[in-house]
Amino acid sequence: ARSFANRLKGLPAPATIEMARRARVLKAEGKPVISLALGEPDFATPPAVVEAAHQAALAGQTKYPPVDGTPALKAAIARKFTRENGLDYKPEEIMVSNGGKQVIFNAFMATLNAGDEVVVPTPYWVSYPLIARMFGATPVFVPCREEDGFRLKADELAKVLTPRTRWVVLNFPNNPTGGVCSADDLRAIAEVLRQYPDIWILSDEIYEHLVFDGAKSASIAAVAPDLKERIITLNGVSKAYAMTGWRVGFAGGPADLIATMRGVQGNATSGVCSIAQAAAAAALDGPADLVQEMVATYGRRRRMVVEALRAIPGFTCAMPDGAFYAYPGVAGCLGRTTAAGKRLETDHDFALALLEEAFVATVPGSAFGHSPYLRLSCATADETLREACQRIAQFVEGLQ
Ligand code: PLP
Repeated sequence: ARSFANRLKGLPAPATIEMARRARVLKAEGKPVISLALGEPDFATPPAVVEAAHQAALAGQTKYPPVDGTPALKAAIARKFTRENGLDYKPEEIMVSNGGKQVIFNAFMATLNAGDEVVVPTPYWVSYPLIARMFGATPVFVPCREEDGFRLKADELAKVLTPRTRWVVLNFPNNPTGGVCSADDLRAIAEVLRQYPDIWILSDEIYEHLVFDGAKSASIAAVAPDLKERIITLNGVSKAYAMTGWRVGFAGGPADLIATMRGVQGNATSGVCSIAQAAAAAALDGPADLVQEMVATYGRRRRMVVEALRAIPGFTCAMPDGAFYAYPGVAGCLGRTTAAGKRLETDHDFALALLEEAFVATVPGSAFGHSPYLRLSCATADETLREACQRIAQFVEGLQ
C-alpha cells in the first residue's frame, strides 16, 4: 500500500479550494458560472510595482536572497510598521515569507508540540486550524457573535484558555466576517493574555487597510507594548496592493522567535523570490492611492451586495466593517427543497445547490466554523455582483 504521513490523516481540503474546483468543472462544461468563492482582489498590481520588479531583474537581483528577506524590503517593512502601526521593529525582528500563509506555517512549526492548543476565534480563515493540526496541535474555538459585530470579546476568550494553550490567533479585520476589533477591544483582550505569560499571540492584520464607514483597526502590539515580545504581527502585500500571485508576506516579532522561524524557512524554501521582494518594497514605499481606491470600491460593493441579500426572504446579513466579503445567514432557507428537488439541510447543501442550479459559487459557513452562513467575495466587478445577487434571489424564490 502507498503510505502517507500520519500527521495528515483526517485533514480535509479547505472548502474554499473545493468550491473553486467545482466551479471550474462546471465552467469547463460551458455553464455561465460566477465565482465568488475566492478572496482575490480584482484590481491589477500597480504598474510602478511591476516596473520595480522588471528593473530589479535587469539589475541582477537574481541570486539567492537572504533567507529572512532582502535588506531593502526589510527596511521598507520597518518603515511601514512605524508609519502605519506605530510599531518599531529592528531588522532582526522582521522576516519575509512566501505569503502571510508561510508566516503562520513557520510560526506554528517553530513552536507547537503535539497536544498543544491553538485558540482560534470563529468564524475563522480556514488555514489557522488546518496548519495547527499539521503539527499535531488541537484547535480550540472561541465564538465571535454577529450581535457583537463579530468582534472577539475578552470574557469569551478567557473561558477557553488553558495551561495547554500555546497560541491565540487574532484576525481583525476578519475573513470571513469583516469584523474589526477596536483598540479598546484589543486592550481588554491584552488584559486577559497578561495572565498567561506562556501564550504566543498571532495578529493577522492582512486586511488592516480595508475598513469602512469610519471603523478603525489597531495592532495589538501597539496597544499593549508590554506583550510585544510574545506577538507575531502578520501582514503582506497580497490584499492591500493586489499582489496575491507575488507571494510576499511578512512578520514582525521577537528576535528569538523570528530566528527560529528563519531556521524553518531556510529548510523549506531558502526564502522568497528576490524579484517579488523588490516589487513588494516598491509597493510599501509607493503612494497610497491604490489602497484608497480599493477601499472606496469595496466599501461601495459590499453595501450593494448586503442590501441585495437583505431583500431576499430567509436571508439575514450584517454590514461588514472591513475586508471584502459578505457573510449572510441562510437559516431561513433551510428545511426547504430546490426547484431541482434537492432538500437543503445545511449551508453546505445550500452552497452546492446554488452552484449547481444557479451557477453561483460561494463558500458555506461550515468551512469557517460558523453555520448556517455563506461567504461571498465582493472583490468582483459591480455588474457581476449584481447578477450573482439576482440569481441567488431567483434560486431562493424557487424553494418549496
Ligand atoms: N490571512 C488571511 C486572513 C487571509 O485571508 C489570507 C489570504 O486569503 C492570508 C492571511 C494569506 O495571504 P497571503 O499568503 O497571500 O499573504
